[in-house]
Amino acid sequence: MTAESTAPVGVLALQGDFREHIAVLRGLGADAVPVRRPAELAEVAGLVIPGGESSVMDKLSRTFGMAEPLKQAIASGLPVYGTCAGLIMLADRVLDGIRGQESLGGLDVSVRRNAFGSQLDSFETDLRIPAVGDEPMHAVFIRAPIVESVGEKATPLAQLDDGRVVAVRQGNLIGTSFHPEITGDTRFHEYFLGLVRERAESAA
Ligand code: GLN
Repeated sequence: MTAESTAPVGVLALQGDFREHIAVLRGLGADAVPVRRPAELAEVAGLVIPGGESSVMDKLSRTFGMAEPLKQAIASGLPVYGTCAGLIMLADRVLDGIRGQESLGGLDVSVRRNAFGSQLDSFETDLRIPAVGDEPMHAVFIRAPIVESVGEKATPLAQLDDGRVVAVRQGNLIGTSFHPEITGDTRFHEYFLGLVRERAESAA
């Protein structure tokens, strides 16, 4: 892929670690731009929703008139990759949200926020993720959600040793409980860019 041949990809930049995602995507040769407004969303060929705090991201997206355009973009098939809080934003059902917390939805999953409790707020482990390659992926979890149930339309991509699901895909949507943007393993971002490229090719 060359940067010239594709429209920019966006990273939702309302809150959270969007700078890290932009850096990873640019490192892969993509033209990555921050997205804060509906007009910016309309220009991108794919979107990353970063980690951060989903309840804040939810409030900001509604306050700034981004929630509806984001839902429409998801419904129209835009490739979207959510990490951690971004996964929560993409989940159809959120457990242990704050009062009134909403999500954008799109992934037919139930996701529980802060699922590892206070004793195990953050941890690292190696995961087998055949969808992105044979080498195990080192995964960093930070106050991470867990995918508590996977509906018919979604497919698990990765599980912890105890079987709990930590990565899913449904069509052009991908979600991970963990943060590949901070480990230097770019395979999920490449996977996402692959979805962007496929969609551009099928539209051409
Ligand atoms: N606990 C955060 C939330 O509920 C997610 C943490 C993260 O994105 N690293 O949104």
